[in-house]
Amino acid sequence: MYFQQTVKEIVQCSGIGLHSGGPVNLRLVPAPIDTGIVFLRKTAKGPVSVKVDGTKVVGTLLCTTIGENGTKVQTVEHLLAALSGLQITNLIVELDSAELPIMDGSAKPFVELILKAGIQKQGVLQPALKITRPIEVRDGDKWIRVRPSWKFRVNCSIRFDHPLLARQSCSFEPISEDFVEWIAPARTFGFLKEVEALRNHGLARGGSLENAVVVGPDGVLNKEGLRYADEFVRHKILDILGDLSLLGMPILGEVDAYCSGHQLNTKLVAEIMSSGDCWTIIKTRPASVEIQPPSGSPVAAQASR
Ligand SMILES: [Zn+2]
Repeated sequence: MYFQQTVKEIVQCSGIGLHSGGPVNLRLVPAPIDTGIVFLRKTAKGPVSVKVDGTKVVGTLLCTTIGENGTKVQTVEHLLAALSGLQITNLIVELDSAELPIMDGSAKPFVELILKAGIQKQGVLQPALKITRPIEVRDGDKWIRVRPSWKFRVNCSIRFDHPLLARQSCSFEPISEDFVEWIAPARTFGFLKEVEALRNHGLARGGSLENAVVVGPDGVLNKEGLRYADEFVRHKILDILGDLSLLGMPILGEVDAYCSGHQLNTKLVAEIMSSGDCWTIIKTRPASVEIQPPSGSPVAAQASR
Protein backbone atom coordinates (compact mmCIF):
# COMPACT_ATOMS: atom_id res chain seq x y z
CA MET A 1 0.00 0.00 0.00
CA TYR A 2 2.21 2.82 1.15
CA PHE A 3 4.79 3.32 -1.53
CA GLN A 4 5.74 6.93 -1.93
CA GLN A 5 3.90 8.51 -4.83
CA THR A 6 3.71 11.86 -6.57
CA VAL A 7 2.01 13.14 -9.73
CA LYS A 8 3.49 12.47 -13.17
CA GLU A 9 3.24 16.04 -14.44
CA ILE A 10 2.23 19.55 -13.42
CA VAL A 11 -1.52 20.19 -13.45
CA GLN A 12 -3.47 23.28 -12.52
CA CYS A 13 -6.95 24.51 -11.77
CA SER A 14 -8.68 27.73 -10.80
CA GLY A 15 -11.60 28.52 -8.57
CA ILE A 16 -12.78 30.75 -5.78
CA GLY A 17 -12.06 30.71 -2.06
CA LEU A 18 -15.04 29.75 0.08
CA HIS A 19 -14.43 32.46 2.63
CA SER A 20 -12.71 35.20 0.63
CA GLY A 21 -14.90 34.77 -2.45
CA GLY A 22 -11.78 35.75 -4.45
CA PRO A 23 -10.09 33.90 -7.34
CA VAL A 24 -7.38 31.29 -6.67
CA ASN A 25 -5.01 29.54 -9.04
CA LEU A 26 -3.61 26.20 -7.92
CA ARG A 27 -0.80 24.09 -9.37
CA LEU A 28 0.16 20.57 -8.33
CA VAL A 29 3.84 19.96 -9.00
CA PRO A 30 5.67 16.59 -8.80
CA ALA A 31 8.01 16.33 -5.83
CA PRO A 32 11.01 14.08 -5.08
CA ILE A 33 11.07 11.21 -2.56
CA ASP A 34 10.64 12.23 1.10
CA THR A 35 9.37 15.73 0.25
CA GLY A 36 5.96 15.23 1.89
CA ILE A 37 3.12 17.63 1.10
CA VAL A 38 4.34 21.21 0.88
CA PHE A 39 2.15 24.25 0.20
CA LEU A 40 3.99 27.02 -1.61
CA ARG A 41 2.09 30.27 -1.38
CA LYS A 42 2.88 33.31 -3.46
CA THR A 43 3.03 36.41 -1.27
CA ALA A 44 4.11 40.01 -1.81
CA LYS A 45 7.47 39.04 -0.26
CA GLY A 46 7.92 36.04 -2.56
CA PRO A 47 6.95 32.38 -2.24
CA VAL A 48 6.57 31.01 1.30
CA SER A 49 6.37 27.28 2.03
CA VAL A 50 4.29 25.50 4.66
CA LYS A 51 5.04 21.81 5.04
CA VAL A 52 2.37 19.46 6.38
CA ASP A 53 3.96 17.78 9.41
CA GLY A 54 1.41 17.63 12.23
CA THR A 55 2.34 20.94 13.82
CA LYS A 56 0.92 23.57 11.49
CA VAL A 57 -2.78 23.88 12.36
CA VAL A 58 -3.58 27.50 13.16
CA GLY A 59 -7.35 27.67 12.72
CA THR A 60 -10.46 25.52 12.47
CA LEU A 61 -13.31 27.98 12.03
CA LEU A 62 -15.48 26.27 9.38
CA CYS A 63 -12.40 24.95 7.59
CA THR A 64 -8.88 23.85 8.43
CA THR A 65 -6.12 26.45 8.22
CA ILE A 66 -2.41 25.70 8.48
CA GLY A 67 0.39 28.21 8.74
CA GLU A 68 3.99 28.94 9.50
CA ASN A 69 5.69 32.20 10.47
CA GLY A 70 2.51 34.20 9.84
CA THR A 71 1.78 32.73 6.39
CA LYS A 72 -1.57 30.98 6.31
CA VAL A 73 -3.13 28.50 3.92
CA GLN A 74 -6.86 28.08 4.43
CA THR A 75 -9.36 25.32 3.55
CA VAL A 76 -6.73 22.64 2.96
CA GLU A 77 -8.88 19.67 4.00
CA HIS A 78 -10.53 18.65 0.73
CA LEU A 79 -7.31 18.64 -1.29
CA LEU A 80 -5.57 16.79 1.55
CA ALA A 81 -8.42 14.25 1.56
CA ALA A 82 -7.91 13.70 -2.18
CA LEU A 83 -4.17 13.19 -1.63
CA SER A 84 -4.87 10.80 1.25
CA GLY A 85 -7.48 8.87 -0.74
CA LEU A 86 -5.17 8.50 -3.75
CA GLN A 87 -2.09 7.95 -1.54
CA ILE A 88 -0.07 10.84 -2.95
CA THR A 89 2.73 11.35 -0.43
CA ASN A 90 5.04 13.85 -2.14
CA LEU A 91 3.69 17.02 -3.76
CA ILE A 92 4.26 20.75 -4.06
CA VAL A 93 0.95 22.64 -3.97
CA GLU A 94 1.43 26.13 -5.39
CA LEU A 95 -1.26 28.75 -4.86
CA ASP A 96 -1.54 32.50 -5.35
CA SER A 97 -4.01 33.16 -2.54
CA ALA A 98 -4.36 32.42 1.16
CA GLU A 99 -7.14 29.95 0.48
CA LEU A 100 -7.54 26.85 -1.65
CA PRO A 101 -10.36 26.93 -4.20
CA ILE A 102 -13.54 25.37 -2.89
CA MET A 103 -14.42 23.90 -6.34
CA ASP A 104 -17.73 21.98 -5.95
CA GLY A 105 -17.35 21.56 -2.17
CA SER A 106 -16.04 18.00 -2.47
CA ALA A 107 -12.70 16.34 -3.25
CA LYS A 108 -13.86 15.14 -6.68
CA PRO A 109 -12.36 17.99 -8.78
CA PHE A 110 -8.97 17.51 -7.05
CA VAL A 111 -9.15 13.75 -7.62
CA GLU A 112 -9.89 14.32 -11.32
CA LEU A 113 -6.97 16.75 -11.54
CA ILE A 114 -4.57 14.25 -9.98
CA LEU A 115 -5.82 11.40 -12.17
CA LYS A 116 -5.37 13.66 -15.21
CA ALA A 117 -1.74 14.24 -14.17
CA GLY A 118 -1.24 10.53 -13.54
CA ILE A 119 0.19 8.95 -10.40
CA GLN A 120 3.93 8.26 -10.28
CA LYS A 121 5.11 5.45 -8.01
CA GLN A 122 8.51 6.36 -6.59
CA GLY A 123 9.67 2.87 -5.56
CA VAL A 124 10.33 3.73 -1.93
CA LEU A 125 8.25 2.68 1.07
CA GLN A 126 6.35 5.40 2.88
CA PRO A 127 6.65 5.49 6.69
CA ALA A 128 3.34 5.35 8.54
CA LEU A 129 2.28 6.31 12.04
CA LYS A 130 1.10 3.12 13.79
CA ILE A 131 -1.19 3.73 16.75
CA THR A 132 -0.30 1.49 19.70
CA ARG A 133 -2.62 2.88 22.41
CA PRO A 134 -6.05 4.54 22.10
CA ILE A 135 -6.21 8.33 21.99
CA GLU A 136 -9.49 10.23 22.35
CA VAL A 137 -10.58 13.85 22.40
CA ARG A 138 -14.02 15.16 23.36
CA ASP A 139 -16.05 18.31 23.24
CA GLY A 140 -19.30 17.85 25.16
CA ASP A 141 -21.08 14.88 23.60
CA LYS A 142 -18.94 15.00 20.43
CA TRP A 143 -15.83 12.90 20.23
CA ILE A 144 -13.23 11.28 18.02
CA ARG A 145 -10.76 8.58 18.92
CA VAL A 146 -8.18 6.38 17.26
CA ARG A 147 -7.28 2.90 18.48
CA PRO A 148 -4.72 0.31 17.49
CA SER A 149 -5.34 -1.58 14.26
CA TRP A 150 -3.26 -2.83 11.38
CA LYS A 151 -5.67 -1.13 9.01
CA PHE A 152 -6.67 2.49 8.54
CA ARG A 153 -10.43 2.65 8.87
CA VAL A 154 -12.83 5.49 9.71
CA ASN A 155 -16.21 4.86 11.37
CA CYS A 156 -18.32 8.01 11.63
CA SER A 157 -21.78 8.85 12.95
CA ILE A 158 -23.58 12.18 12.88
CA ARG A 159 -26.78 13.39 14.45
CA PHE A 160 -28.56 16.68 13.79
CA ASP A 161 -31.85 18.13 14.84
CA HIS A 162 -33.26 17.83 11.32
CA PRO A 163 -35.36 14.99 9.87
CA LEU A 164 -33.14 14.70 6.76
CA LEU A 165 -30.02 13.83 8.76
CA ALA A 166 -31.35 12.83 12.15
CA ARG A 167 -28.77 10.05 12.24
CA GLN A 168 -26.30 8.78 9.64
CA SER A 169 -23.43 6.32 10.03
CA CYS A 170 -20.78 5.19 7.58
CA SER A 171 -17.48 3.28 7.65
CA PHE A 172 -14.71 3.53 5.13
CA GLU A 173 -11.39 1.79 4.64
CA PRO A 174 -9.31 3.80 2.16
CA ILE A 175 -6.99 1.00 1.07
CA SER A 176 -9.59 -1.62 0.22
CA GLU A 177 -12.57 0.57 -0.73
CA ASP A 178 -13.00 2.99 -3.60
CA PHE A 179 -12.35 6.54 -2.38
CA VAL A 180 -12.93 7.98 -5.86
CA GLU A 181 -16.42 6.51 -6.11
CA TRP A 182 -17.70 6.52 -2.53
CA ILE A 183 -16.16 9.42 -0.64
CA ALA A 184 -14.52 11.99 -2.96
CA PRO A 185 -17.80 13.31 -4.49
CA ALA A 186 -19.50 13.99 -1.13
CA ARG A 187 -19.94 17.76 -0.77
CA THR A 188 -19.67 20.00 2.24
CA PHE A 189 -23.02 21.04 3.71
CA GLY A 190 -24.63 23.67 5.87
CA PHE A 191 -28.02 24.69 7.20
CA LEU A 192 -29.73 27.66 5.59
CA LYS A 193 -30.02 29.60 8.85
CA GLU A 194 -26.26 29.11 9.51
CA VAL A 195 -25.33 30.19 5.99
CA GLU A 196 -27.28 33.43 6.45
CA ALA A 197 -25.55 34.08 9.79
CA LEU A 198 -22.12 33.46 8.23
CA ARG A 199 -22.82 35.87 5.40
CA ASN A 200 -23.88 38.51 7.92
CA HIS A 201 -20.47 38.10 9.55
CA GLY A 202 -18.59 38.42 6.26
CA LEU A 203 -17.75 34.69 6.15
CA ALA A 204 -18.43 32.13 3.42
CA ARG A 205 -18.54 34.93 0.84
CA GLY A 206 -17.75 32.44 -1.93
CA GLY A 207 -20.34 29.96 -0.68
CA SER A 208 -23.22 29.05 -2.97
CA LEU A 209 -25.36 26.13 -4.08
CA GLU A 210 -22.55 25.48 -6.59
CA ASN A 211 -20.14 24.43 -3.83
CA ALA A 212 -22.21 23.26 -0.87
CA VAL A 213 -25.32 21.31 -0.04
CA VAL A 214 -27.64 23.72 1.74
CA VAL A 215 -30.33 22.26 3.97
CA GLY A 216 -33.49 24.31 4.53
CA PRO A 217 -36.40 23.50 6.86
CA ASP A 218 -38.11 21.44 4.15
CA GLY A 219 -35.10 19.71 2.63
CA VAL A 220 -32.12 20.25 0.36
CA LEU A 221 -32.20 23.53 -1.59
CA ASN A 222 -29.87 22.30 -4.36
CA LYS A 223 -31.95 21.52 -7.48
CA GLU A 224 -29.88 18.45 -8.33
CA GLY A 225 -30.50 16.97 -4.89
CA LEU A 226 -28.00 14.76 -3.08
CA ARG A 227 -25.23 12.66 -4.64
CA TYR A 228 -25.85 9.93 -2.01
CA ALA A 229 -28.66 9.56 0.52
CA ASP A 230 -25.97 9.70 3.21
CA GLU A 231 -23.80 12.36 1.52
CA PHE A 232 -23.51 14.28 4.82
CA VAL A 233 -21.74 11.57 6.80
CA ARG A 234 -19.61 10.65 3.77
CA HIS A 235 -18.39 14.25 3.69
CA LYS A 236 -17.59 14.01 7.40
CA ILE A 237 -15.38 11.01 6.59
CA LEU A 238 -13.77 13.02 3.77
CA ASP A 239 -12.99 15.82 6.25
CA ILE A 240 -11.53 13.33 8.74
CA LEU A 241 -9.27 11.86 6.04
CA GLY A 242 -8.11 15.36 5.12
CA ASP A 243 -7.62 16.55 8.70
CA LEU A 244 -5.79 13.41 9.85
CA SER A 245 -3.39 13.71 6.92
CA LEU A 246 -2.12 16.85 8.67
CA LEU A 247 -0.01 14.37 10.66
CA GLY A 248 2.28 14.39 7.63
CA MET A 249 2.19 10.64 7.09
CA PRO A 250 -0.43 7.89 6.74
CA ILE A 251 -1.91 6.56 9.96
CA LEU A 252 -2.46 2.92 10.86
CA GLY A 253 -5.34 2.80 13.32
CA GLU A 254 -9.12 2.58 13.54
CA VAL A 255 -10.86 5.93 13.92
CA ASP A 256 -14.30 6.26 15.52
CA ALA A 257 -16.01 9.64 15.42
CA TYR A 258 -19.31 11.04 16.63
CA CYS A 259 -20.38 14.47 15.31
CA SER A 260 -16.74 15.44 14.96
CA GLY A 261 -15.70 18.52 12.95
CA HIS A 262 -12.46 20.28 12.04
CA GLN A 263 -11.91 21.52 15.57
CA LEU A 264 -12.03 18.06 17.13
CA ASN A 265 -10.28 16.36 14.21
CA THR A 266 -7.31 18.70 14.47
CA LYS A 267 -7.38 18.47 18.26
CA LEU A 268 -6.91 14.73 17.80
CA VAL A 269 -3.95 15.44 15.50
CA ALA A 270 -2.41 17.67 18.19
CA GLU A 271 -3.11 15.05 20.87
CA ILE A 272 -1.45 12.34 18.75
CA MET A 273 1.58 14.56 18.17
CA SER A 274 1.96 15.19 21.89
CA SER A 275 1.41 11.52 22.87
CA GLY A 276 4.61 9.97 21.60
CA ASP A 277 4.05 6.91 23.82
CA CYS A 278 0.85 6.02 21.89
CA TRP A 279 2.35 5.40 18.47
CA THR A 280 5.40 4.29 16.60
CA ILE A 281 6.63 5.01 13.11
CA ILE A 282 6.91 2.00 10.85
CA LYS A 283 7.66 1.36 7.22
CA THR A 284 4.65 -0.52 5.93
CA ARG A 285 4.45 -3.15 3.28
CA PRO A 286 2.24 -3.37 0.19
CA ALA A 287 -1.43 -4.14 0.98
CA SER A 288 -1.07 -7.53 -0.71
CA VAL A 289 1.31 -8.60 2.05
CA GLU A 290 -0.59 -9.55 5.19
CA ILE A 291 1.02 -7.91 8.21
CA GLN A 292 0.53 -9.69 11.51
CA PRO A 293 1.28 -8.05 14.83
CA PRO A 294 3.67 -9.94 17.08
CA SER A 295 1.66 -12.65 18.88
CA GLY A 296 1.01 -12.06 22.56
CA SER A 297 1.66 -8.34 22.35
CA PRO A 298 -0.91 -5.84 23.67
CA VAL A 299 -1.32 -4.65 20.10
CA ALA A 300 -2.20 -8.19 18.99
CA ALA A 301 -4.87 -8.40 21.69
CA GLN A 302 -6.40 -5.10 20.64
CA ALA A 303 -6.15 -5.85 16.93
CA SER A 304 -8.02 -9.12 17.32
CA ARG A 305 -10.99 -7.60 19.13
ZN1 LIG B 1 -15.34 19.59 4.29
